[in-house]
Amino acid sequence: MSSVQVAVVTGSNKGIGLAIVRALCKQFQGDVYLTARDPGRGQAAVAQLQDEGLRPLFHQLDIDDLQSIRALRDFLKEKYGGLDVLVNNAGIAFKVNDTTPFAIQAEVTLKTNFFGTKNVCTELLPLIKPYGRVVNVSSMVSSSALGRCSQELQKKFRSDTITEDELVQLMNKFVEDTKNNVHEKEGWPNTAYGVSKIGVTVLSRIQARLLNEKRKGDHILLNACCPGWVRTDMAGPQATKSPDEGAETPVYLALLPSNADAPHGQFVSNKTVKTW
Ligand code: NAP
Repeated sequence: MSSVQVAVVTGSNKGIGLAIVRALCKQFQGDVYLTARDPGRGQAAVAQLQDEGLRPLFHQLDIDDLQSIRALRDFLKEKYGGLDVLVNNAGIAFKVNDTTPFAIQAEVTLKTNFFGTKNVCTELLPLIKPYGRVVNVSSMVSSSALGRCSQELQKKFRSDTITEDELVQLMNKFVEDTKNNVHEKEGWPNTAYGVSKIGVTVLSRIQARLLNEKRKGDHILLNACCPGWVRTDMAGPQATKSPDEGAETPVYLALLPSNADAPHGQFVSNKTVKTW
């Protein structure tokens, strides 16, 4: 088994994920895995970084596919005996002018952004080693969407005692409510992406709390963040930040020094903790 440290970035064949891998290759003392659901796109991205003189490694990972997640888990367990840095970056968003029915957009968006991310956490968090760092890439849109939820939903999403099961039930209820076209009546905002990212931010708060309860003394730090508005296929060319600039906050959280005890369980934007 290798004693080398290891970092994994999900959805890193392009966009912010690729930029996070680039930065980690330069700054992280250990192996850095670029992962992609499509091995062809993944290997092409690895080749691009190799042309820049960097040495990322590759592993396939489709966060929508439990078998794929478990194959990565088993690989990491066997080769490294765990994982030091996990960046949950993979995500999707329908374009504003997409005509796909809202209920389908809700189901598809939640499937990857919330349920896929949650499944990666379920399988990989138990592997995180002491002093490990976990970064869940959410969005400021999670905050604005939270503000547009009913008071009752806001209270639940801000609760310090909400469980993962309760959060899963709420995310499933949103999808069901869109199918029955009652989501607005039920207090949800009219944004599937926003609700999926509320899920990611709240999930991060829950996971940080569980780490405090179950692994106190392991010094693991887990946070959600917003990369900013970044020029990628998702956000388009008008966005204000380059992918490398978008990677700054996620990389800052991934490389928090071993003597740091904060931030933990926070929502971070521009390297600053934001009130949830
Ligand atoms: P992007 O350029 O569209 O890249 C998204 C990445 O996620 C791609 O590599 C994509 O792979 C991957 N992905 C999608 N579904 C996946 C799955 N099921 N399994 C594995 N990988 C999957 O988007 P981006 O702008 O870099 O976004 C990265 C993250 O930042 C997302 O979580 C996004 O919500 C968040 N974010 C972005 C912005 C922004 O302004 N860009 C702002 C706030 C938050 P394929 O190439 O195979 O599709």
